[in-house]
Amino acid sequence: MISFYPGPSRLYSSIPSFMQEAAKSGILSLNHRSKEFVALSEKTIKFLKRKLQIPDDYWIFYTSSATESWEIIAQSLVVDKSLHLFNGAFGEKWFEYTHKIKPLSSAYSFDKEETLNPDRLNANDAELICLVQNETSNGTQILNHTIQSIKEKFPKQLIAVDATSSLAGIKLEISNADIWLASVQKCFGLPAGLGLLICSPKAIDKALSVNENNHYNSLPFLIEKMKVKQTSYTPNVLGIYLLMKVMSEVPAISTVTKITKERANNWYRFFESFESVQLLVENKAVRSDTVIAVMGEEDQIATIKNKAKKEGLLLGNGYGAWAKNTFRIANFPAITDKEIKLLQKFFKTHLS
Ligand SMILES: *Cc1c(COP(=O)(O)O)cnc(C)c1O
Repeated sequence: MISFYPGPSRLYSSIPSFMQEAAKSGILSLNHRSKEFVALSEKTIKFLKRKLQIPDDYWIFYTSSATESWEIIAQSLVVDKSLHLFNGAFGEKWFEYTHKIKPLSSAYSFDKEETLNPDRLNANDAELICLVQNETSNGTQILNHTIQSIKEKFPKQLIAVDATSSLAGIKLEISNADIWLASVQKCFGLPAGLGLLICSPKAIDKALSVNENNHYNSLPFLIEKMKVKQTSYTPNVLGIYLLMKVMSEVPAISTVTKITKERANNWYRFFESFESVQLLVENKAVRSDTVIAVMGEEDQIATIKNKAKKEGLLLGNGYGAWAKNTFRIANFPAITDKEIKLLQKFFKTHLS
């Protein structure tokens, strides 16, 4: 089965051999307080910073998922309220989880066709502005320069960006925001069970001044441990090892971006040629580079997903409000050109 699911997604083909290597070398029972773990952790962070162009003064923390990172942010980086900008299911969920922890937090929702306009935002009483760079549920994205203009308009606030389905797939200007979060089962081409939380020095300062210490994953505690490249609990050491191996092998993010964008343009042009399905997102300026959402009649979408599955091609289900009338295709780096050709051939045979 070739997976085009936008998470958990197709793994890099090298993963099985890296797993064997891990088993042989004792990584699977490596103590997380040992100097071997510290060396692995250091190496992983070094590769992440180098390959993804993360500024040197940013901190990288290991978490278990993107969802855990949402809660860490709500607990440890917000005293009273955050403002959540969203146009889809993941952004809304982030807001809902945060709202349970910080009930004064508020939401600003916008249309999936809308280019987010910072001039319309009123964020002056929020400490933190949260947005989803790539909304996996509907295949839209917020461009780097938009994030930059939000930062310029609100210099006092912290900006937090969920880049779960785009980090390692396209170049993100990390210095445009204070907090970035992701998990590795999307563009990293790795098995689930590991998340990343990336923080600017300004975010670290805020965490230390808020000094929230009620949880095993309170940020001051994570900072304390990360000073020696460790974690507050026994982490997913295999996941960290696989991340290190993958990051050591992938090209620089500028190269990856070029391929991702070419493939995305190709997918969008491809679907424009069919009458029976449409692209979910009409506004080209907000279409995602990493998740392509295609819309049609409910029965037709169900039929095409089934047929694809029978031919060994796994399409992503629709999500949230678009669960039944869309399917999604991951445009993640681990997918090969040959696999894309196969899927396009399938569509040419089965779509009119
Ligand atoms: C997949 C996804 C999440 C959830 O990731 P977990 O690792 O399952 O917590 C959050 N945000 C976005 C944008 C996602 O695509």
